[in-house]
Amino acid sequence: MRRAAAAAALAAAAGCAPLVALDVGHHAAAPGAIGASGTPEFEYNLALAGEVRRALEPHGLRTYMIGERGDYAVLHDRTRDAQGADLFLSIHHDSVREELLPSAGSFSGFSLFVSRLNPRLEKSLACASAIGERLRAAGFSPSRYHADPALGSGRAFADEANGVHYYDNLAVARTATMPSVLVEAGVIVNREEELRLRDPLVRGRIARAIAGGVASCLK
Ligand SMILES: [Zn+2]
Repeated sequence: MRRAAAAAALAAAAGCAPLVALDVGHHAAAPGAIGASGTPEFEYNLALAGEVRRALEPHGLRTYMIGERGDYAVLHDRTRDAQGADLFLSIHHDSVREELLPSAGSFSGFSLFVSRLNPRLEKSLACASAIGERLRAAGFSPSRYHADPALGSGRAFADEANGVHYYDNLAVARTATMPSVLVEAGVIVNREEELRLRDPLVRGRIARAIAGGVASCLK
């Protein structure tokens, strides 16, 4: 009886644990950017999302994967299927504009995005900043590419130190009803950075930093 009660209490506690929807960016038919080695972004997103999922477990957070089978072609299906989650976290790897590809080796670092059209902007930003802070503490640097008006798209920083930008029309942030953050873990069109990003040790460090930031903002 006591044991059953304890189990029920544990189940109830687990039920209350924050739920993170882990969105694997892109899908099989349109796998995103192509890395310098020819490996499509979707493969990197899938591997990192799986690592983030594992890294969130010790924090006691529940996770739900979206798009891990490569079959989510419609972006708003992703946020629709994340109903009930406390955070929508979209995992991506970055590229640069086509005309900049010959100098892709000079672009590196992570970027984080939130939308001012998301109804939970404040929480989205808190989570994005926490993730950026943990990534920096783990030795990674934020990219300045997306904020650059000439090179990138001039996206304003929401938290410059931690690499967080506003990207208001970002579909997975705008259509989410819960806080939403998109992570670009690094630049896979940069040959050297791609090699780092595919190293399981580096991927593990990135995943633990992301998980640490998520846990600190959701608890
Ligand atoms: Zn992407």
